[in-house]
Amino acid sequence: MKIAVTGGKGGTGKSTIATALAAWLSKKSRVLLLDLDVDCPNDHLILSAKLRKVSDVKSMIPDFDLKKCIKCGRCRKACMENAIVQVKGRYPFVVPEQCTGCRACKIVCPVNAITEKEQVIGHIFRGRGATDLITGTLKPGIEESSLVVNAAKRYAEKYESSYDYVIIDTAAGTHCPVISALLGADVAIAVTEPTPLGSHDLDLILDLTGKLGIKAHVVINRSDIAGRDDIEKTARKHKANIIAEIPYSMRIIKNYSEGRPITHKAIRKIADVLA
Ligand code: SF4
Ligand code: SF4
Repeated sequence: MKIAVTGGKGGTGKSTIATALAAWLSKKSRVLLLDLDVDCPNDHLILSAKLRKVSDVKSMIPDFDLKKCIKCGRCRKACMENAIVQVKGRYPFVVPEQCTGCRACKIVCPVNAITEKEQVIGHIFRGRGATDLITGTLKPGIEESSLVVNAAKRYAEKYESSYDYVIIDTAAGTHCPVISALLGADVAIAVTEPTPLGSHDLDLILDLTGKLGIKAHVVINRSDIAGRDDIEKTARKHKANIIAEIPYSMRIIKNYSEGRPITHKAIRKIADVLA
């Protein structure tokens, strides 16, 4: 079973819950945790897992043949990422960090002056803490993280059949890397907190999981910091159940800061709902 732990808002405790759930389920089952928050992966820190690099993630980048180039500017106009810079009358050049490797520039070049080079845009790591872990990391400065998310997913797919559960920790938000991470999940856990922003972002993530056809449950983290009326209303709107609540607790913060997955009866409750 593939379980995505997600949430529209950053800082709600997705990684805390993903690692805790992985650690709990791994007591009786084979569990693979897949950290796809590739801009800022931190599950290995919570699990105190040592990581080893297993592969680079590479992407195509254009290489300009200046002997062929007629400085027409079509490549610059075709690049939706504004990764090609060209001053009128000069040769174009590429800003590697902005290039997503879409090849549009190569396709439109009228004189075949563009060939392909490779650039490393990220890495894939494996490790083991309380559970097995695969994590993708985006190279600093690179803009588009979906390519690394997809590469880490493809790498993990080779091993998934050896596990009872694959827990996917997505980035926050509802943008492309989150969609890439969610695709293929059997169920999603939307982690939120009882604040107006938490409720607003819960609405967005439940809207997204609904559009992707993924059944979603809601978990309220720091559940006692404010009233939960807005969260209940949002969950009802999307016909999602609130399956667990985790109160604000110094013990949880201590576990987190010491690199240990949290233990709380709410984690067992989540596991029971998913079983
Ligand atoms: S490959 Fe795509 S993103 Fe990269 S420079 Fe060419 S058009 Fe722009
Ligand atoms: S499209 Fe081709 S010929 Fe035109 S500026 Fe770009 S590389 Fe040069």
